[in-house]
Amino acid sequence: MQYSTMPVKSWHVLLGSLAVLSLGVEILIDPTWFDSTRGVYFDYSKWQYLLSCVMIVVGLAGTIASLVSMNRKNRWDEMMICPECQQTIITYTAQDGRCPQCGGELEPLDGFYERHPELLDEDTEPGH
Ligand SMILES: [Zn+2]
Repeated sequence: MQYSTMPVKSWHVLLGSLAVLSLGVEILIDPTWFDSTRGVYFDYSKWQYLLSCVMIVVGLAGTIASLVSMNRKNRWDEMMICPECQQTIITYTAQDGRCPQCGGELEPLDGFYERHPELLDEDTEPGH
């Protein structure tokens, strides 16, 4: 499935952004850092505000961008619709690509009504 690649990338961006964000907050709170495994002592106090501001901004931007991207993907690409009975199904529950109600072949919900505008008219016009 081509749809599965995007959420994985978003997850990586989200985790990386959260790591950068938390590191920026840590530097803001305590600009000194001792790496006990390598015995190295870091002092960021000169660059404390510049470094932490950049990291927090980059981390926040990446977090928001990846969350927005994931929400959009979850809402549209993981939904399928049956052209026969117009039943909407989460892709996860219909992995064989068939409608559980009538056995019709499912289509992705994203762009479905652009491909089938006649179905949209029947369903949404009030008073019919
Ligand atoms: Zn169906």
